Amino acid sequence: MPSTIPVAPASCDEVDPGTLSVEQARQHIEALITPVKDTVTLNLTQALNQVLAEPVASPINVPPHRNSAMDGYALRAADLPQQGTVALTVIGTVFAGQPFAGSVGPGECVRIMTGATVPDGADTIVMQEHVQRSADSLTLGTGHCQGQHVRHPGEDIATGQTVLQQGKRLRAAELGLLASLGIPRITVRRQLKVAYFSTGDELQSVGEPLGAGQIYDSNRYILYGMLKDLGVELIDLGVIRDDRAAIEAAFLAAAEQADAIITSGGVSVGEADYVKTTLDKLGQVNFWKIAMKPGKPLAFGRVNDALFFGLPGNPVSVLATFYLLVKPALQRLAGQDAVTPVVVRLPCAESLKKRPGRTDFQRGIMANDANGNLVVRSVGMQASHILSGMSRANCFIILPRESGDVTAGSLVEVMPFEGLMS
Ligand code: AMP
Ligand code: MG
Repeated sequence: MPSTIPVAPASCDEVDPGTLSVEQARQHIEALITPVKDTVTLNLTQALNQVLAEPVASPINVPPHRNSAMDGYALRAADLPQQGTVALTVIGTVFAGQPFAGSVGPGECVRIMTGATVPDGADTIVMQEHVQRSADSLTLGTGHCQGQHVRHPGEDIATGQTVLQQGKRLRAAELGLLASLGIPRITVRRQLKVAYFSTGDELQSVGEPLGAGQIYDSNRYILYGMLKDLGVELIDLGVIRDDRAAIEAAFLAAAEQADAIITSGGVSVGEADYVKTTLDKLGQVNFWKIAMKPGKPLAFGRVNDALFFGLPGNPVSVLATFYLLVKPALQRLAGQDAVTPVVVRLPCAESLKKRPGRTDFQRGIMANDANGNLVVRSVGMQASHILSGMSRANCFIILPRESGDVTAGSLVEVMPFEGLMS
């Protein structure tokens, strides 16, 4: 028994020299990642959210043919009047997708729709608003330029040009781009498999009544949503009780099936935290204190061949640590190029409480004020179990480690969520 009772620090966030900054944690994690190598060739729709394994060169010119950018008339620049007006004969009409069979001679023109192939002989388009038409005769004046309103083959993308680099995650825009080039199948890195489970004797699954002292397991649903957005294959291992044997069995099962394992809970210094003891036995795992709020404790390392992330138990900490540390790591593991999150400086519309010691990732709402200027404010309560605030948030307000309270009107760093919630 110590002869004196330990004194609590004035602030539980006081600077602890043993903690890592978020950036240091990110670098340590990055150093341990080897991206998956295997590739698969998939139909475009199956490749959504997967990572390109090789660069893609265009097999065609875009646009593929010379076409009109306007509704109007296709004619020869040599017929454009230097002064006064000129009359041309309309010899036909050309619609998009239906090329004109003939060619445009001197003194002639063809009515043309946007996107239609410019007929042979013609090299210039005059907008329909700039002409006078009567029967088969067209009258136009000066002010037109040779070659105007003509889109040339390959002007957007030339045959052989690289349009996407390897390491690119394929989203809606990329699928559209690949389809526009007529590419039906694409080679991507194989999909990551991620196993996840929650730990805690107090956790009840949704659909069951809550017993005394129980809470619902929300973390598995948070992880489901965030992992789904990342395009990984999900392996849900459920809720694991705070029981040494059950946790060990869950880890071994997870490591067998998955490239990465994510757990929540059991990484702090609580008495039933068997995650730590199990990992000490099974893997090479570091237990970090990260100078971030929410989300101080984090376990990271390997269990057999699988990468392991042990997230804190509080749901907001799960969201924050996933977003800031796990997501970039899984993106790298999947072979995606590193993504640098955008951070903007915005005036804070209200004062914020902050204790020096950790970097705060407060949940905020960016919105236009009455003058149309973008400002940020807090969602309100910032404790790490307040999921309702997280659900209203569209950004993190990042307050540096050493900073104290923020006064209303000062500039703060804001990281908008991308696809997390909005
Ligand atoms: P722990 O790190 O296991 O001590 O958990 C820290 C806090 O998070 C406790 O209040 C837990 O009840 C809570 N918690 C842990 N896991 C979950 C979960 N899956 N869903 C909701 N809350 C959780
Ligand atoms: Mg627990």
